[in-house]
Amino acid sequence: MRGLLEKNRAWLADASSHPDRWRNRVDHAEAPRHFLDTERFGFGTDAARIPAAYTELERIRTYDQLRTDGVVPWAAERVWKLMVSALRERRWEDAMVQAAYLSHYVGDAHVPFHATENYDGQLSTPPRRGIHRRFEGLALERSISLADLRAGRPEGKGTASERILLAIREGISDVPTLIEADRAAAADAGGTDSDAYWEKFLPVARPIAVRRLEAAGRRLAGLYEAAWKAAGRPRPGNPPEMTDDWLPAAPAFVPRGQTPPPPLPVVPDELKASARLRAKLLPFWSARLGRTVPVTVLLPESYDSSRKRYPVVYLLHGASGDHSDWNAKSGLAAYTANQEVILVMPDAQGDSFYTDSVGFGPIESMLVRELVPAIDERYRTLAKREGRGIAGLSMGGYGAWRIALNHPRTFAAAASLSGALGWGEGTAPAGLAERIWPSETAREWERSRLAPLLENLYRGKAWHGPSLWFDCGKDDYLVDSNRRMEVRLAGLGIPYEFAEFDGAHDWKYWDAHIRDVLHFMRRRLAPATL
Ligand SMILES: [Zn+2]
Repeated sequence: MRGLLEKNRAWLADASSHPDRWRNRVDHAEAPRHFLDTERFGFGTDAARIPAAYTELERIRTYDQLRTDGVVPWAAERVWKLMVSALRERRWEDAMVQAAYLSHYVGDAHVPFHATENYDGQLSTPPRRGIHRRFEGLALERSISLADLRAGRPEGKGTASERILLAIREGISDVPTLIEADRAAAADAGGTDSDAYWEKFLPVARPIAVRRLEAAGRRLAGLYEAAWKAAGRPRPGNPPEMTDDWLPAAPAFVPRGQTPPPPLPVVPDELKASARLRAKLLPFWSARLGRTVPVTVLLPESYDSSRKRYPVVYLLHGASGDHSDWNAKSGLAAYTANQEVILVMPDAQGDSFYTDSVGFGPIESMLVRELVPAIDERYRTLAKREGRGIAGLSMGGYGAWRIALNHPRTFAAAASLSGALGWGEGTAPAGLAERIWPSETAREWERSRLAPLLENLYRGKAWHGPSLWFDCGKDDYLVDSNRRMEVRLAGLGIPYEFAEFDGAHDWKYWDAHIRDVLHFMRRRLAPATL
């Protein structure tokens, strides 16, 4: 793995700031991943007493509280696990993306002002507002270069969250010293703007900053080493050279006062409209259903001129929709024109929730046992697990996860946009559920929960299921069930990717975020090959 990291040293240094850019996408789940307000947990400044296991954490803080408290130790743990999965499956590019994210979270956790409720000196008496930037930004810029830092041996033991909690405890103990040095220097210099201020502040701040940076380096190296060992010490023979497009799209930093670029590149409506014409309608005969099921297919532009085999993403529509929705209502065709992926959009035959049921017939079996083999036969696909992903919106988000969790040998990745991930929990929605299961509705409803499928695939402290992505709009009526899913996955220790963007349950949202899902699939699936 050392070769992989060394070959991409410059990329990694650059990419390690990416999580702050991603935060600007306005992912509401991202901001709390960068800090921990230690004092809010009830153990004073002793972060090491905060439970490292997420399940225990749930007993003392609610999900909403954690959004304000910060979750950097568990964010680090989650990306560490994503890195382990990627290394184990020899998906080197994704391993590097997770390595970059991990380095960011580890770095943040070592900054004293990321470890305390008094993160900007605002709680000190008198307040020392601006200390965050004076220490983390200006002091570092003024006084430290990379060459000043000593490389150390990889360090640390235990889980990633245990290691990060230790880092937080060390960091927060430097806060009083820094606040006092800042106060004294400002008092002497008559403010914080002059050279006189820095002459007094830096002799205290600089050694602390050097110590924290060096500790972060050793701890990060320890986590990389542990990830590599946990993945079975894989060796990338010829490590790939990383490029920026392996990182999810996020706006570049712009100086304060300037308008930031749009979070995702703008694609004109005319281009979307003309790209749509590429879609084909595949009439597909299902023996199980005894009828033809319409399927919309989008082949890559290069398909006819190439001899490559392509990965396939099955894309499911929502309730009261049909197979034509994704192509007609989003810019999918334009977004994927130059991507080497085949998109297959089957029809759910009504609000079937993609299950085998009395009301709608064997929809799940039709998709997995009939459609997948038919697609593999008809098109040049990568006809293997790593060549297949499944995604969907709302009802289709649930369907995608359910099908992939039921058939982990068929699909390597599953993504849910605004998914009905709480399906099967609470009371069954009247009408909807009865049409699927005209009899024994309550029992069948309960049996359709995702939880047992997730638990079943988490055995021996390892996840044996597909890579999971889910996202939801913050104003979506399904956002609570998506948040509950995050709690469940974090509690079980299942690696996942979750984002909560601005937006609601509508096509504006899906048109934007299908691009994030496609990016996720690219990182997760095998590339097209000859
Ligand atoms: Zn950060």
